[in-house]
Amino acid sequence: MLRALLLLVLFVSCSVSGRTGVGSSGLLLISGGTIVTLNDARPEVEALLVREGRISAMGTLEQVLAEPGALEAERFDLKGEVLYPGFVDGHAHLVGIGMNLLQVDLMGTSSYQAVVQRVERFVEQNPVAEGGWVMGRGWDQNDWPEQRFPTHNLLSLAFPDVPVVLSRVDGHAILANRKAMDLAGINRSTADPEGGAILRDRQGRATGVFIDNAESLILRHVPAADDFQVEQAIRLAAEALQKAGLTAIHDAGIDQRTVDLCMQLAARGELGIRVYGMVPGSNTAQLDAWLARGPQIDPTDQVTVRAIKLYADGALGSRGAALLEDYSDDPGNRGLLVTPAERIREVADRAIEAGFQVCTHAIGDRANRQVLDAYEAAFEAARASGGNPGDHRFRVEHAQVLSPQDIPRFRQLGVIPSMQTQHQTSDAPWAEDRLGAQRVRGAYAWRSLLDTGVVICGGSDAPVEVLDPIASFRAAVTRTDAEGWPDGGWFAEEAMTRREALLHLSAWPAYAAFQEDRLGVLRPGTRADFTVLDADLRALPEPELDQARVTATIFNGEVVFRARPRPRAALR
Ligand SMILES: [Zn+2]
Repeated sequence: MLRALLLLVLFVSCSVSGRTGVGSSGLLLISGGTIVTLNDARPEVEALLVREGRISAMGTLEQVLAEPGALEAERFDLKGEVLYPGFVDGHAHLVGIGMNLLQVDLMGTSSYQAVVQRVERFVEQNPVAEGGWVMGRGWDQNDWPEQRFPTHNLLSLAFPDVPVVLSRVDGHAILANRKAMDLAGINRSTADPEGGAILRDRQGRATGVFIDNAESLILRHVPAADDFQVEQAIRLAAEALQKAGLTAIHDAGIDQRTVDLCMQLAARGELGIRVYGMVPGSNTAQLDAWLARGPQIDPTDQVTVRAIKLYADGALGSRGAALLEDYSDDPGNRGLLVTPAERIREVADRAIEAGFQVCTHAIGDRANRQVLDAYEAAFEAARASGGNPGDHRFRVEHAQVLSPQDIPRFRQLGVIPSMQTQHQTSDAPWAEDRLGAQRVRGAYAWRSLLDTGVVICGGSDAPVEVLDPIASFRAAVTRTDAEGWPDGGWFAEEAMTRREALLHLSAWPAYAAFQEDRLGVLRPGTRADFTVLDADLRALPEPELDQARVTATIFNGEVVFRARPRPRAALR
């Protein structure tokens, strides 16, 4: 019930959710628009025939209609729209996406009263379970008339008995109501923690706002999500992916519970997306168990776990990324390496042995070099000992800032840069301050990398950035944000071509997950995962790219999302 209500709230405004099967014939015939295959042998076809979740034939409509059973097939008319191989998000966080959808969305609220009203409406529609907390995110007092931090009073008045915690838009402050503060034992004598502040009134009482490290005084009392909530989060995330035109996700940090729940949903035919999981290397016990057991390669490609996620450093915005030289705007600071080189090497050795891929988060040039060095040493050791010489496809997640001499090493070592183009457009306003005019040349250097002959696995890093492959595509080809800033693009010479930008959302993440023989490119035998847009991304003028809209998502031959038609006047 809760789910039904949530889905209603989330999707009723813009879409018709629900699936249509392929009919009694078990066949689906798609035609009536442009079909982009990304297959060099036949870049475009007129029609596709889908049988048991795979493409069984493609070509002209006449050719496809001549296939056995084609005349009885269920028809899917593209109505002049454009079908692409199903888009893959090559780096995102499944449960994080879903958990965000289980919180009150406070983005765009124009007053504190509006915030409280949204929370009230959410709670009416999603009754709080016994012992549950109401969580929300996205308020920004700069958008309110008074432009001041709120106090808990209004929120506490509306919710005297239920704890409520609302995060500021940047996540660096929370607003807690009285009940939440009581449960957390906050009183006048609670001290400000190191690196955090409790805002107080004249009498020294907490006003409800907790900044930075003070947030944990409240947040550590929020009960951990139970299986029910995690399953809700997975379902909501899967629906959000389908709605965004995505048929698969590489989950950059999947825990055992999420793997189990995804498998249960997949077995019941209710997952509706493909999940390629990276096991967090920080959880030593879980990692040891996976390495002992070996990868889980799902023959149906729905839930596959054959990767390990490590972290080499932090992020550039907070100056946690490990640089070879000082930050240009913070002399003496070179950021932090968070995992010793020996540990990366050790995990790499064991992963090769057990048949896992290693995916290491590295943002700064020092972190990237350290990871490439560790991978190289592990590959050499495997070769020298006569061990698995193979096709390891180790990845560097983000690969944001690279020393020029390290750029060719990805190709030389067979390491895949896994990059999120929206990070470039988000970081552009300050990246050059951090890095300086010289070093910034090796940042978000997609063109320089592609020119060495590598592929780039594209992703969004949602919920850090928006779950929107069209936004990733726009950033990839224009190097501008949603407002078209900066004019002409940020170091536009590093942009991708439109073809590359499509590949980095489909065929290249498929390769980065060892799935290129069945995902990412359309050819007979590949899985019937498709994204349908109302526009041709290969030709749409740059300023209009963000207006392209997902009209249908087809997963395994089933239509899992279909947008409500636009009013006639709005059609181009
Ligand atoms: Zn991430």
